Amino acid sequence: MNIGLEVLKSLKEEITEVEYNRYIKQLTYDEQKSTSDLAVFYAPNALVSNWIKSKFKKKIEHLFEIKTGSRVSVSISLKAEASKSIDKKIVEQKKSVQSLLNPSHTFDNFMVGGSNQFAYAAVKSVSEKAGQVYNPLFIYGGVGLGKTHLMQAAGNVFQNQGKVVIYITLEQFLNDFTRHLRNKTMERFREKYRKCDVLLVDDIQFLSTKEMLQEEFFHTFEALRGVGKQIILTADKHPKKIAGLEERLQSRFEWGLVADIQPPELETKIAIVESKSKINKVKLNKEIINYIATVIESNVREIEGILAKLHAYSQLMHVDIDLEFTKNVLKDQMQEKRKNLTLEGITETVAKDLNIKPSEIKSKSRSKNIVYARRIAIYLCRDLTQNTMPQLAQYFGMKDHTAISHTLKKINELMENDEDFKVKIEELTNKITSTS
Ligand code: ADP
Ligand code: MG
Repeated sequence: MNIGLEVLKSLKEEITEVEYNRYIKQLTYDEQKSTSDLAVFYAPNALVSNWIKSKFKKKIEHLFEIKTGSRVSVSISLKAEASKSIDKKIVEQKKSVQSLLNPSHTFDNFMVGGSNQFAYAAVKSVSEKAGQVYNPLFIYGGVGLGKTHLMQAAGNVFQNQGKVVIYITLEQFLNDFTRHLRNKTMERFREKYRKCDVLLVDDIQFLSTKEMLQEEFFHTFEALRGVGKQIILTADKHPKKIAGLEERLQSRFEWGLVADIQPPELETKIAIVESKSKINKVKLNKEIINYIATVIESNVREIEGILAKLHAYSQLMHVDIDLEFTKNVLKDQMQEKRKNLTLEGITETVAKDLNIKPSEIKSKSRSKNIVYARRIAIYLCRDLTQNTMPQLAQYFGMKDHTAISHTLKKINELMENDEDFKVKIEELTNKITSTS
């Protein structure tokens, strides 16, 4: 059995039978085109391919790593365009070493609205004048709001100009660093990151508390910026708010331009659903598009999952996608997503986000920041789980359900009058429901 099949066989153990039969079974592995660091698979259509990319690609890569002991990027292409794009990918991979840019992350595919126009304009102008306008460019915002998409859109522009682009998440950067450190090949590590033309580092907030990596990153940053090479960074928060980030890095991250992305307003969500349904060739009428846009909270990433699901279900059941059908599919999806949320999980996420301990939220402390965190946690637990007020009272160590009911009333007032509070609730809802 070849390695590709072996990996898929192991994957079968880890996922549901339905997922395996519906998606993974449709993959074929190309032994000829695959190399020691690139595994090539074909999918029969864009939906299967997108679905696998978003849900299983990381797992597949992980399994390759376990079996071969080295890092392998997985490419999933459509059969028809396969050989052309694979050849290109191999060349690109040689050029850009790290994980590949997603070619559909372009400026054209990015819908612009009030929530993201500042970040869009900033990235666009950097893509027109590498190293000359804002360096570094720092983009921050919540989960699924398009940071990676924008950063890669610039990356694609640079790559098409023949520049050497490294796109890497901070976690990959950390793994690479650790590996070179262990193998005593730090010279090669440094050379690799310092000879690129453009460095894109995604989710840099994970730098916090990693002191050695911060030190190394600092020197990479200095070396690149010193010779006018463009650096783009993303994070889930402003550099000032990344706890445990060295002063010198924090100030450097603000040297160029810091741009935020906010959750999309309804019009932007509608435009995004419309565009994604075109790209994925799922036919939806205006009414359904509006409905989907209203139901999803702010995480745009959900849209692709929803479209794939609608498409798959309508094919399986031989029905057209109408509003009723859409409502049912989405209802399942919401329930499914929320079923797994627990009071512990929610409290933990809130505590982590606000830099306090979960036990403090559940304590009797009246200090201001803890009361604030406790209110948020109670509200989210009420909103996202099926627990009753007495259950919540017990969990949060309050006297009885009237205490909870009082707190909820207070929170509803805040939601109406305090915009910051409301945004925080939305941000956390997004975080909690998108990681489950
Ligand atoms: P982030 O990096 O901020 O978590 P991503 O860039 O990964 O978010 O975006 C999640 C998904 O949503 C991607 O498929 C991306 O293409 C899509 N997306 C986000 N914002 C937009 C937008 N304004 N227009 C089109 N697609 C978008
Ligand atoms: Mg991202």
